Amino acid sequence: MTCPNEYAEAVLREWVWPDGRPRCPKCGNHKKIYERHTNRSDRYECGGCDHTFSALSGTPFASRKKSLAFYVEAIRVLSQRGQRPVMWVAQTLDISYKSAWLLAKKWDAWTRTRPGPAEHPP
Ligand SMILES: [Zn+2]
Repeated sequence: MTCPNEYAEAVLREWVWPDGRPRCPKCGNHKKIYERHTNRSDRYECGGCDHTFSALSGTPFASRKKSLAFYVEAIRVLSQRGQRPVMWVAQTLDISYKSAWLLAKKWDAWTRTRPGPAEHPP
């Protein structure tokens, strides 16, 4: 049996780091990353700048106000959104229009900056 949270975290990790390697959101280092397992979630420590982070650090979902399962669903909905209006996002995720608007805005900004799968490591 896989814990739903573990499954959700694995999905999120795969989405944030398409090459499967944790990357420090602060300095971009991915060569010296140490894993720190805690009760709450997996944390990582950067060997370059000592910054600790999780897979969600620096993403639109970093605040973790909702469950991991919600964020997995949000990623699915937002990546399939296309030209659909914000109201569609709100209704599909069952959240307020304001929350959906904020989420969509953060998502757009994030997807513009995140390294794509085609990016070569420095
Ligand atoms: Zn770092």
